[in-house]
Amino acid sequence: MTLPQNQSPAEFEYYVNATSIEEACRALGDGVGTILAGGSDLWVQKDEGVKIFGPRLINISRVDELAEISIGNDHVRLGARVTMTDILNHGELGNIAPGLLEAANRFASPQIRNVATVGGNFANASPAADSVIPLICLDAEIELARLDGNAVAIRSIPSADFFTGPGKTVRTDDELITAISFKPRDGKSLARFFKSGPRPALEISIVSLGIAADILDGKLSNVRIALGAVAPIPFRARKTEALIEGQKIDDKLIHAALECLVSEISPIGDVRGSKWYRQHLARTYLQEALTDVA
Ligand SMILES: Cc1cc2nc3c(=O)[nH]c(=O)nc-3n(C[C@H](O)[C@H](O)[C@H](O)COP(=O)(O)OP(=O)(O)OC[C@H]3O[C@@H](n4cnc5c(N)ncnc54)[C@H](O)[C@@H]3O)c2cc1C
Repeated sequence: MTLPQNQSPAEFEYYVNATSIEEACRALGDGVGTILAGGSDLWVQKDEGVKIFGPRLINISRVDELAEISIGNDHVRLGARVTMTDILNHGELGNIAPGLLEAANRFASPQIRNVATVGGNFANASPAADSVIPLICLDAEIELARLDGNAVAIRSIPSADFFTGPGKTVRTDDELITAISFKPRDGKSLARFFKSGPRPALEISIVSLGIAADILDGKLSNVRIALGAVAPIPFRARKTEALIEGQKIDDKLIHAALECLVSEISPIGDVRGSKWYRQHLARTYLQEALTDVA
């Protein structure tokens, strides 16, 4: 359906205040709905006319179950409507997922953090999305719900397979992101998040890098390295992960890993940073993380 580019909220055909997942899925059912979470991307994109939205605006800010953070023995579940401020204020979550805490801490400004949701960060699919990077490092799964007949059907997608291009994901138009969940690492582990930018707030990443791994006897295992803003989608540096996996972290290995990472990424150069500068930042962040372990 084609819509005029400069819709004001009143120009959306319907405005649904969903109060349950089922209600939101029902409103999304015919694929012409647009979910409104915090609105920090949606309103900007609407005003700039960069995105055409379905005419039925579905506000999910009253769906309480989407705002829950639940922490079990071997499972953490963040409702899609959990905000960056919720992550920062949740005492326990920061210990379980320090990389995610750091990403929330470097996210935008306090005002934006109060509204920006983790579900919106995934659905918007920016290659520079911050909360996505530590969650990919945690092998997080994206939970998607849609109405199948009269019942809500759920499927889960690994976060690393969720993105297909800038602003594009495997989510279909009738699907609602309901949660992002992951298994916490137990034992001694590494979890870091780095983000470039001259200011501590309101910076879109020139490059971000997340790394997570289990640490035993100076060796890293189950290594995950993800980068933002170096590719059309959040990028997993699988070759560098494989090179580090199970190896003792010494100067020789660090040197080889940095060379591998630089050869593995091919970022664009733009007004915010040249290709060389982005590769240099990625290299520097990985060096810091590995040197600290060594
Ligand atoms: C000034 C400013 C600074 C910013 N700084 C940062 C930053 O530092 N780091 C960063 O990563 N981002 C940043 N952003 C971008 C934005 O804040 C984030 O992407 C945020 O997480 C989006 O969440 P939201 O709840 O506001 O999403 P919305 O704007 O409500 O929605 C974004 C998109 O996702 C869809 N959507 C939202 N929730 C769901 C759902 N549950 N299921 C299906 N689809 C859904 C919407 O339909 C829309 O297409 C910034 C934005 C602004 C305006």
